[in-house]
Amino acid sequence: MTDTEQKNMETTLRDQEARASRSAFERAWVESLKIKAATFAHIPASALAYEMAWHGYKAGKATIGANGASNHTLPPLESWVPLKFRFGSWSHCFYCGEFPESQDHIVPRSMMRSWVDLRGSGGSPGPKTPACLNCNAVLSDHFFDTLHARCDAINERLVKRFGREVSRPDWTPTELAALDEKLRKHVVLKQEKKSFYKRRIEWQKGESFTLMFNEAYAAAIVEFPENEEFKLFMEPRWRK
Ligand SMILES: [Zn+2]
Repeated sequence: MTDTEQKNMETTLRDQEARASRSAFERAWVESLKIKAATFAHIPASALAYEMAWHGYKAGKATIGANGASNHTLPPLESWVPLKFRFGSWSHCFYCGEFPESQDHIVPRSMMRSWVDLRGSGGSPGPKTPACLNCNAVLSDHFFDTLHARCDAINERLVKRFGREVSRPDWTPTELAALDEKLRKHVVLKQEKKSFYKRRIEWQKGESFTLMFNEAYAAAIVEFPENEEFKLFMEPRWRK
């Protein structure tokens, strides 16, 4: 075999390998699309099962809100998720009560892409509510089968992360006065953070939250009287 022939053969082999690995990648990609399509066709009973199916390729990954999942079986989203519905207020994040800098899609946009053409519509359709950036980021593209389960996910996370810190006793003015200035500043800063987390943790126990949730549910009933599924989704647990 001449050098040229040898080189040609090597090139051919490399091409074949590249093609083979590319088609393996494409096959895997098509498989993942099939999983997504199957997931959209029929949503399993609980939010956890849904998340496991949706993130099938990362199976075993911890999910939030599993405890809030109900046993209700959801029909396909396109049959009941309204394209336009806004609730809540621009004075409070729906989930933690802090200042809302963003809008949370209560059904993740990523899940609506299969049936709503977002590119042409000039907006991002779907039901949404004002939320702070932190809650919005935590909820991300996680799906919960009720709005209340979505609220639980935030509260559970806040309690898990900051619950212990928040339950520690406050420093008394006398104790603070006994500290040198540098330490006192540090402690005061920590106390401020603590009260911030405490406010967020306790928001869902407060009257404003109850009122806001009831109003959202009432609006859903008025706007979508025939949409039983959406009404179920929006119904706060205390009304059940
Ligand atoms: Zn928030």
